[in-house]
Amino acid sequence: MESIVYQPMECPVCGKFYFSELQEGDDIRRLQCSKCGWRYDYEQAADPDLKHGNNTQSVNEYRAWYEAVIADNPEYDYSDEHCPPAQPHQCPVCGEHLFKDKDSFDMCPVCGWIDDGLMEDNPNKWAGSSNDLCLNDYRDRYLQNKQSS
Ligand SMILES: [Zn+2]
Ligand SMILES: [Zn+2]
Repeated sequence: MESIVYQPMECPVCGKFYFSELQEGDDIRRLQCSKCGWRYDYEQAADPDLKHGNNTQSVNEYRAWYEAVIADNPEYDYSDEHCPPAQPHQCPVCGEHLFKDKDSFDMCPVCGWIDDGLMEDNPNKWAGSSNDLCLNDYRDRYLQNKQSS
């Protein structure tokens, strides 16, 4: 097995991210700059014209791309772009529980609704998928049960 060289360093593309000491269990090939998305590759960092390493583009090409992106959007952040922030939202049935994210498929501890974004967007459809009833019917049943108890 070829050994992969690792050395803590600044991201050679954007210079805004620091690849720090490896932690137990880190996979070098999966380390990635959160600002520009460059994947760690020691040899590519050492030779900025080297293509087809862990990154298809060379560091110089990647830099040119990043500069164009930043010129267009100075706030650009690779991790924001690729991992959208969580969207906490109220349970659409009982309104008493806050789901941590959209489409979490968590179960509401108050009414038992499974958080399903598709069902929430189409309140008269998709009965029998994540929940046995569509959102509107589920809400009716919940309100009825609540009144009768
Ligand atoms: Zn970077
Ligand atoms: Zn609920």
